[in-house]
Amino acid sequence: MKPSILLIYTGGTIGMKQDPETGHLKPFDFAQISEEVPELAKFGYHIESLSFSPIIDSSDVRPEFWVKLAEIIRDQYDRFDGFVVLHGTDTMAYSASALSFMLENLEKPVIFTGSQLPIGMLRTDGRENLISAIEIASAKAADGHARVPEVCICFDSKLFRGNRTAKLNAEDFGAFSSPNLPPLADAGIHIRFDDALIHRPAQWGRPLKLHTSLGADVAILKIFPGMSRAYVRAVLSAEGLRAVVLETYGSGNAPSLDWFLAELKAASQCGIILVNVTQCPAGSVDMDAYANGAILKDVGVISCHDMTSEAALTKLAVLLGESTDNEVVKLRMLENLSGEISVER
Ligand code: ASP
Repeated sequence: MKPSILLIYTGGTIGMKQDPETGHLKPFDFAQISEEVPELAKFGYHIESLSFSPIIDSSDVRPEFWVKLAEIIRDQYDRFDGFVVLHGTDTMAYSASALSFMLENLEKPVIFTGSQLPIGMLRTDGRENLISAIEIASAKAADGHARVPEVCICFDSKLFRGNRTAKLNAEDFGAFSSPNLPPLADAGIHIRFDDALIHRPAQWGRPLKLHTSLGADVAILKIFPGMSRAYVRAVLSAEGLRAVVLETYGSGNAPSLDWFLAELKAASQCGIILVNVTQCPAGSVDMDAYANGAILKDVGVISCHDMTSEAALTKLAVLLGESTDNEVVKLRMLENLSGEISVER
């Protein structure tokens, strides 16, 4: 049987072209993407495509977009072997992270890709990215199941676990990195899969379960030298706020200023969940390493270990949508739900 793949085009540079009047890049109709990549016909696969309406620059992504995407995958789940999501690079790591938590019991590949240069341009990276993504989405293991039953990002010849990835380069074709987890596959002459890293279900055949009630009442608070009390208070007192990702220094450290700790403590006492990720692209939070980390632990901040900010934020959104009990959410934050943490604690 021919592999069957659904391409879901949501927007982004890969499908953009220049507006002749303004010179700005603007999305164009998906039909033109198939025209730009005649190689798709050479696969001999059954490839269908579906376009979001409207197609968007991924800077406009909101949680409702993730729900729509998850529902499309659910509705088409039985008809396809794999899914390739064409998405802008700006928020691709957020969307791939969100989907990794929203699609429980996933047994088929959901591969995000996009490009740094529009697909219509001569030097585009989009053609290569799209072709590799389709090949990976259709790959089977020896047992006949999908080789990569995960939500991933395929970019610049590398396959990364979606919820480990961040956009770290706005210029190079290698826009994405996964500093705390090696790539799941490398596409050279052959696509070399690192099967030991790829997550496979303990038991196959469980129905796909969607988590689509997302708590949008989350925020990221980046710590920096000289931040004012007014800034910290403005974030922590946002109306309806339920959880905050603190982006801290190094291994999870923050200033020991009395007013700062008092603001965090007050927020925590008001029922706001505070979690700790490091601003460093690589490495992990360890609040026991320094006194300036331990003080955060004392005011009730929870460690996200080596999670990316994107993973921490979207995981919180999914968990808050499922439970109003903060203790349940905090415990679940510590669990490795979808391969987003290196070590389960
Ligand atoms: N602004 C674009 C987007 O994220 C950038 C890209 O696709 O690379 O939609």
